[in-house]
Amino acid sequence: MATSWGSLLQDEQLLEELARQAVDRALAEGVLLRTTQEPSSSDVVSYAPFTLFPSLVPSALLEQAYAVQMDFNLLVDAVSQNSAFLEQTLSSTIKMDNFTAHLFDIYKQVLGEGIAQTVFLGLNRSDYMFQRSADGSPALKQIEINTISASFGGLASRTPAVHQHVLNVLNKTKEAAKVLSNNPSKGLALGIAKAWELYGSANAQVLLIAQEKERNIFDQRAIENELLAKKIHVIRRRFEDVSEKGSLDQDRRLFMDGQEIAVVYFRDGYMPTQYSTQNWKARLLLERSCAVKCPDIATQLTGTKKVQQELSRAGVLEMLLPGQPEAVARLRATFAGLYSLDMGEEGDQAINEALAAPNRFVLKPQREGGGNNLYGEEMVQALEQLKDREERASYILMEKIEPEPFANCLLRPGSPVRVVQCISELGIFGVYVRQGKTLVMNKHVGHLLRTKAIEHADGGVAAGVAVLDNPYPV
Ligand code: ADP
Ligand code: MG
Repeated sequence: MATSWGSLLQDEQLLEELARQAVDRALAEGVLLRTTQEPSSSDVVSYAPFTLFPSLVPSALLEQAYAVQMDFNLLVDAVSQNSAFLEQTLSSTIKMDNFTAHLFDIYKQVLGEGIAQTVFLGLNRSDYMFQRSADGSPALKQIEINTISASFGGLASRTPAVHQHVLNVLNKTKEAAKVLSNNPSKGLALGIAKAWELYGSANAQVLLIAQEKERNIFDQRAIENELLAKKIHVIRRRFEDVSEKGSLDQDRRLFMDGQEIAVVYFRDGYMPTQYSTQNWKARLLLERSCAVKCPDIATQLTGTKKVQQELSRAGVLEMLLPGQPEAVARLRATFAGLYSLDMGEEGDQAINEALAAPNRFVLKPQREGGGNNLYGEEMVQALEQLKDREERASYILMEKIEPEPFANCLLRPGSPVRVVQCISELGIFGVYVRQGKTLVMNKHVGHLLRTKAIEHADGGVAAGVAVLDNPYPV
């Protein structure tokens, strides 16, 4: 992709002035993070890192990503209801991966007891990169789908104004008008509000499961604010609070501090380090309740890398979405190569291929939150060690997506303004609500573009690698 900001990126003095303007506008718009030094306090905050210019994205790929989002919502919803598929798919993984096993244990307990929850809410984000193909044209390839704590919908609602500001300063008003407006937090709140309404108790509240140290609080507040505008109150509590003050009544209604809870929205609970024994107990209590969990434990399991890999197997999409060949075709078109590492010939072959051409693959454990995948020499070492051990079933192999790099300027607190070669990752936010067997909402609600310097293989904004961006459709 050629950049239209080419000549601007060569004028260092101009970039520094633009950066000052952009940072001040970002702060004024609320594109904020708490600092690493004080992650539990909003006394001193800074701007969330972002690009100076919006990055060029082919309109056709943006449209394709939006068009397939409702299909992904349907797919996630279908998998989460298919216990036979989840059990079979995760059977080898849970033998080797403790975290997935613990989640699965809770799932089995809730299934055994009978699921009390009748309204289901999915707030997910499907992430893509633009694979450059042999003929030079880019193709949309899914990196993963996030079914728990999919973040940056709030801050992504505020970044368009910043890029519009930069372009307006340059008198590029036509270009400024092309920066897409975006408001995922509004759409995410709409989903929560719908679930709250269907739960059907006027005084019940939304419980946001929060981390003690949360740098990304303003992202979450954007959703809370939208809900409060609809007169829906959100309380923020930690797992520890739930285990001390949470309870179920005989109908398995959930109460926190004596207050009924309609919806539990997790912004915690997706990484092993977030669970003490006490926290696992709290998670089980929440799962057993009839409150709408976003996500419920089955939907969290649906977001594992192992499920993603099995979905790419021939015939699986057709089985999960019967009678929907067009949706199946749209979904499959976004799949990159995904390979099981279960013991056996298929896994052996995948390992041999990755060892022979390490730059074409990524090794992924069942983890979320960035920084867990292995690439290049590290991947080779890990594969050599894992090759003959059953532990390899806790990983999957994925084709490495290689987008065409482009130049942009990444702005971070405390770092000098510098033009670097970058690649982007596009996320689309999806929302669905199901009551019993009836889907009552299925929509896409906005996007997130994150951009990082090419020297980083892994990592998102929270991991300190990628920065917030906006697509500039071309
Ligand atoms: P996580 O759940 O930790 O976010 P991801 O699968 O999203 O895991 O991987 C983290 C990051 O690693 C992505 O944001 C992306 O930058 C990079 N990445 C993941 N998979 C691939 C891939 N197949 N090709 C290229 N980069 C990838
Ligand atoms: Mg990711």
